[in-house]
Amino acid sequence: MPELPEMETYRTLLVPRVCGPEITATQVNREKTINLASEEFSRILAGNRLTAIERRGKHLLFLLQNGQLLLLHLMLGGFLYWGTSTDKLDRTAQVTLSFGEHILYFHGLRLGYLHLLDKDEAARKLSALGPEPLAPAFTPAQFARLLTGKRGVLKTALVDQHWLAGIGNCYADEICFHAGILPTRKIPELTDAESTRLYHSMQTVLQEAIKYGGYMETPLYRGDLLTGGFDKRCQVYDREGEPCPQCGHAIAKSELSSRKVFACTNCQT
Ligand SMILES: [Zn+2]
Repeated sequence: MPELPEMETYRTLLVPRVCGPEITATQVNREKTINLASEEFSRILAGNRLTAIERRGKHLLFLLQNGQLLLLHLMLGGFLYWGTSTDKLDRTAQVTLSFGEHILYFHGLRLGYLHLLDKDEAARKLSALGPEPLAPAFTPAQFARLLTGKRGVLKTALVDQHWLAGIGNCYADEICFHAGILPTRKIPELTDAESTRLYHSMQTVLQEAIKYGGYMETPLYRGDLLTGGFDKRCQVYDREGEPCPQCGHAIAKSELSSRKVFACTNCQT
């Protein structure tokens, strides 16, 4: 599932492409992906323009000139493509937005959604999310406060969107590896030094993942060399049995409440 760096990569690449030009048409191939009748969706969007794209956790907010916004969550399997009717992927898109000849394709939105909302509705919907790990206001002290009183296992907390927004299975494991801490550790047993290390690893790993375009497989557009560049830089995630890049021991895979956990049991304690 795309996480903070993947959505941030989409945001950066899409802003110069979709913000400004008029939306000339929409197509909805799966009504369940949107939250109103497709005729209504089309009536509001056609002739409208996107003015900005914001990100909150794993969501993108496409702000519209009329004051409303499109709230996107890709969930599992969703991805975006920017092309034309002659340069598109050979698979169905659940929704498309056309900007003249260019088209933004929303693919794989079986679980995900694209909802047209007023700003207040969106704010209410996102109000339960935890803080943004890369926000300037999110300091080591604030992270330490979050950890205080939190029970349970580290990985479970890191992927809990109500506790901290934007991190999922992949980056939780990568952050723990970078910090040298096992994702299966119990939070009350973490030392202050480990908490500080986790904070800094979170900053480093997420920023590096954004810099290299996240791990999405499909490029956003033909010739896109940024998207997916971090995939080969993942150190432990989905690398069961491969040698740890630090010590050479085989990366171990375990399960934690039906989530996969990847770690080096030699480097991480
Ligand atoms: Zn190792």
